[in-house]
Amino acid sequence: MAVLVLMVSLAVGCGGSGPDDVRPGDRTPATAPPTTTSPAPPAVAEEPVEEDIGTAVSVVDRYWDRHWAELFTGTYRSPRILGGYDGAAASVPRCGGQPLADDNAVYCPARDFLAWDVDLMNAGHRAGDAWVYLVIAHEWGHAVQNRLDTQLVALQLELQADCLAGAVLFGAAADGMLRFEEGDTDELAQALGVLADDTPWTKASDHGDASERIGAFTRGTQDGVKGCLPT
Ligand SMILES: [Zn+2]
Repeated sequence: MAVLVLMVSLAVGCGGSGPDDVRPGDRTPATAPPTTTSPAPPAVAEEPVEEDIGTAVSVVDRYWDRHWAELFTGTYRSPRILGGYDGAAASVPRCGGQPLADDNAVYCPARDFLAWDVDLMNAGHRAGDAWVYLVIAHEWGHAVQNRLDTQLVALQLELQADCLAGAVLFGAAADGMLRFEEGDTDELAQALGVLADDTPWTKASDHGDASERIGAFTRGTQDGVKGCLPT
């Protein structure tokens, strides 16, 4: 299984509890693809999901901190990381008075934090570790939108967040903070497809269909953050 590997060691921030998500409906994340039966593939050490989450948080935060001044005015501020929650529990963290959604991930603008249902991360991670990088980079994109002048925020909020995710993950790789291995790009495309709407984008709350989400992410990978801004 291919992995995204952190090439430098970084401290991981942790802390704080919105509407949104990466995923629109109540579909379950992708299951792992079928594996070959014989011969058995060599065992590959997989990172625990918590480790990948910590790496993703560090890398995405570091990318924005490093590049903010090239892109925008003002000083970059990291969002808080509430981290994992159990969306099926009797009591879940809240954003703007609303409990965080089951099987979802969020950026909460009211309290400026990122959070994710642990089941969403665990299930997605089983299909491929690129999942957690995508989810965190996408939600971070919403935190960035919340920091930008409104004219820089696209009407297609979710697709812009996908674009920013692509820009940051591939930008971090170009910086040497991440290394993509074989299969990662397939995992990312699969994850975007799983998380997509069934119908094309028509309004701000829509995530866009699979081809739109993959297209937005790909634009970010190719054109960087500036390619994600309204023209
Ligand atoms: Zn989103």
